[in-house]
Amino acid sequence: MSVEPPSKATEVLRGIAGSPGVAIGKVVVFGQSRAHCPRRTIGPGEIDAEVVRFEEAVARAQRDLREMSQRLTERSAEASILEAYVLMTGDPVLAEAVRHQIQKEKRAAEWAVAEASDVIAKRLGALDDPYLSERSHDVLFIGDRILRAFGTTAPEQQNLRLDGPSIVVAHDLSPADTAAMINQPVVGFVTEVGTRTSHTAIMARALEIPAVVGVTDALKRISGGDLVVVDGLRGSVLVGPQPRELDEARARGERHTALSRELSVSRDREATTQDGVRVTLRANVELPAEAILARDHGAEGIGLYRTEFLYIDRSLPPTEDQQFEIFRAVVETMRPMPVTLRTFDIGGDKFISSLKLPPEMNPMLGLRAVRLALSQPEVFLEHLRAMVRASAYGEVKIMIPMIASLSELRQVRVLLEQAIEQVKARGLPCADEIPLGIMVEVPAAAVLVDLFAQEASFMSLGTNDLVQYTLAVDRTSRSLAYLASSFDPAILRLIRSVVRAGEGWSCPVSICGAMASDPLAAVLLVGLGMRDFSMEAAAIPEIKEALRRVTLVEAEAVAREALRFGTSDEVEHCVAEAFAPRLYDLLTGER
Ligand code: PEP
Ligand code: MG
Repeated sequence: MSVEPPSKATEVLRGIAGSPGVAIGKVVVFGQSRAHCPRRTIGPGEIDAEVVRFEEAVARAQRDLREMSQRLTERSAEASILEAYVLMTGDPVLAEAVRHQIQKEKRAAEWAVAEASDVIAKRLGALDDPYLSERSHDVLFIGDRILRAFGTTAPEQQNLRLDGPSIVVAHDLSPADTAAMINQPVVGFVTEVGTRTSHTAIMARALEIPAVVGVTDALKRISGGDLVVVDGLRGSVLVGPQPRELDEARARGERHTALSRELSVSRDREATTQDGVRVTLRANVELPAEAILARDHGAEGIGLYRTEFLYIDRSLPPTEDQQFEIFRAVVETMRPMPVTLRTFDIGGDKFISSLKLPPEMNPMLGLRAVRLALSQPEVFLEHLRAMVRASAYGEVKIMIPMIASLSELRQVRVLLEQAIEQVKARGLPCADEIPLGIMVEVPAAAVLVDLFAQEASFMSLGTNDLVQYTLAVDRTSRSLAYLASSFDPAILRLIRSVVRAGEGWSCPVSICGAMASDPLAAVLLVGLGMRDFSMEAAAIPEIKEALRRVTLVEAEAVAREALRFGTSDEVEHCVAEAFAPRLYDLLTGER
């Protein structure tokens, strides 16, 4: 197994810009045991003991593999492979490399195994010889078996401990995984799946961490310990960048930071178009701590609190009191500005939950959001009571996700009234009026919008799902992302009719889908009559600036023209032609 170190050129991987900014760091591969082994430095007195621990782990791994092979009754091909692995586990090249890591690099045994097997596998993988190059997988497999034999590798997110600024690379990151990284020095994310409106990208933007999603084969092309550049502005990942590329990336990152800083200076200015039309910009939040970020970025309230995040990563649903305390804290942070609490949107792609959901063939079309809530009225009532109680501490509105029929709105209203009665019966305070609104994100709600406008206290366009369900494009699909355009004429017409119905029936309309935080789309939305936006907090200063550079008259003219086109490309081209030159820095994220 003696191989020469490869000299590799930079590899550029393309994906989707999930969260803006440029990050440089060493990779930690998430969701594989080697990424979670303890990375502890040892003292000189521990070296011998660590070598013994390594040798014992090898012996245990060999014993486990032998037992596995013996369990295979026939002399099958699998049994022969396992026996070959038993031999390879004791390979002297690997053992020598591990000893070097322990004795010279002063690394604990697990770290030494992870590092040594990674390095050997990488060298093999870079060879021209297809046979040797294939062996890299065997080395990684053996490394993992030895790591497992230590009994110290951590399952997934619970024990993630990062040593320094890290880029997390994963096939996918659940909202719980991402939330678990808040207190870790994560500077960038790369995932193989996902789009701009999938949960990883939404969370990364909320946490203001650069991310590139939908990078096909990222896990095959990037290894733990690689130095990478995550360019969340252009949607690319540079693996093994050259010094010149690193300098360039740093400079781009600094220009982005400078632009963000410059924009945030004017965060307290009103969001008005050049001709003085006032627009309201609120924040979308997923975690209670984001309320402070929302204030810091000049949000005029919270337009969407995705409360389902309270239910993930736990074995039991949060109690009414636990929910109430969190809602109250958010409401008090934002007071006197309003907070729109969206009832939990569990199901669909927001999979992990403490409410046990049955597996479904099409979860996006299944027991999700309000459907799940109505199927578990006791859990939903607790949730509603927590919201009702929080209304005593500031302005609270309640919003229902995934409404597809009037009967769902009516059923929720009955439950909300019941929740209010229950809170009052306990002698607890609550607001005299709690507006109950809906998300317009299922085409049926947009089609029947005149009826909803008469019964709902407000409506908020969820374009992430409206695009998904109207255009029949899975919002998490990387390969269909090119179809999922919020500039699609079908979407524009729906938005237009929702805005009109809102005006006609005096029902306030807002937008909280990711379309709101795209500068070009935001200008178009103003032209379509939208005056109330909610988006990730970090985008607020940028959208405020975009609106300040255009007039309503121009935006309306472009919207009128855009509505005449039949394809999303034509619409986007029309809007870009009119506004991209003056929004160039905001669109590229660099000044
Ligand atoms: C939407 O669908 O546009 C939306 C804002 O909700 P979510 O992204 O949480 O589904
Ligand atoms: Mg939605």
